[in-house]
Amino acid sequence: MNTLFLKPASPDDKKTIDKAADIIKSGGVVAIPTETVYGLAANALCPEAVKKIFIAKGRPQDNPLIVHISRFDEIYPLVKDVPEKAIKLAEKFWPGPLTVILPKADVIPDVVTCGQKTVAVRMPSHKIASAIIRASGVPLAAPSANISGRPSPTTAEHVLHDLDGKIDAIVDGGECDVGVESTVITLCTPVPRLLRPGGITLEQLRETIGDVEADRAIYDPLPEGVKPSSPGMKYKHYSPEAKVVILKGALEGFIDYVNKNGDDTSAVLCFEGEEKYFSGTVLTYGKKDDPSSQAHEIFNKLRLADEKKIKKVFARCPSESGVGMAVYNRLLRAAAFTVEEV
Ligand code: AMP
Ligand code: MG
Repeated sequence: MNTLFLKPASPDDKKTIDKAADIIKSGGVVAIPTETVYGLAANALCPEAVKKIFIAKGRPQDNPLIVHISRFDEIYPLVKDVPEKAIKLAEKFWPGPLTVILPKADVIPDVVTCGQKTVAVRMPSHKIASAIIRASGVPLAAPSANISGRPSPTTAEHVLHDLDGKIDAIVDGGECDVGVESTVITLCTPVPRLLRPGGITLEQLRETIGDVEADRAIYDPLPEGVKPSSPGMKYKHYSPEAKVVILKGALEGFIDYVNKNGDDTSAVLCFEGEEKYFSGTVLTYGKKDDPSSQAHEIFNKLRLADEKKIKKVFARCPSESGVGMAVYNRLLRAAAFTVEEV
């Protein structure tokens, strides 16, 4: 398949937006920029189109997709009920990097939810994403536009690297702002539960709707045989080819460890300003006290490690508060939970 590369001059570039929407309307799959990461979008109401997403990504058949809308009232036909808490969250955080899980309506095909009775819904704030949803005239099912298991794509080049020849088109909207996937919260549990941390923090959710519990799978590998609340949480995820080791502790201990254990096939993943302490390959991911800047860079730098044919990455451990929770969660999975105290 020849993958069309589309670059809108702006979100008002109607000709390019319409071209992407036409492909979606005729049952194709198109990678689109969002404020979180690039998404691989298809008509959420068309099972044949949605199946193509799973095939292109090599996505496990039991990992459900998020459905994207462009206006709040588009949620009503997709779910059985819109509770007060969903309205409060939407008023505060939509459009934006928050996904809400609610009981699904019959119109949502089983292939989208992998047979579950709930559906994940989000309203992205990226102007191009929003314009493409509107021009398509249907909700769009869209997981991250990477090969399953690889770091999520935050540029059109990342998407090309993984999916060129496997999808109908890519819309280039430049670098994604947030850099990690949306926060996922379910309102289908007795107490609302955070399933995946992201750009909207646990603290912000609690300020808006009161009690929210954090799922244990955010920080811990699931024990054998335990069913995850969110199927996406059971997979090793976001991983470069390189083995990632998270080193937890002060900078001095990190420097010592790397100097003892590093070689010319390894790389250091540290914070800006710390480069001077290391020789060899040094990658930085944001500023130490600015988790949003870390989120913005993390996937990009994990991909860069592969480009440089690095075998082992020694990563500085981010702080776990605020958006740091999302950064730590992604890094833990990239490292398959390998953490060493230094
Ligand atoms: P991605 O589209 O790659 O960002 O992945 C979507 C995430 O949302 C995955 O972790 C899914 O497991 C999760 N998700 C989507 N739909 C549901 C659902 N109905 N219930 C629980 N988790 C869901
Ligand atoms: Mg994904």
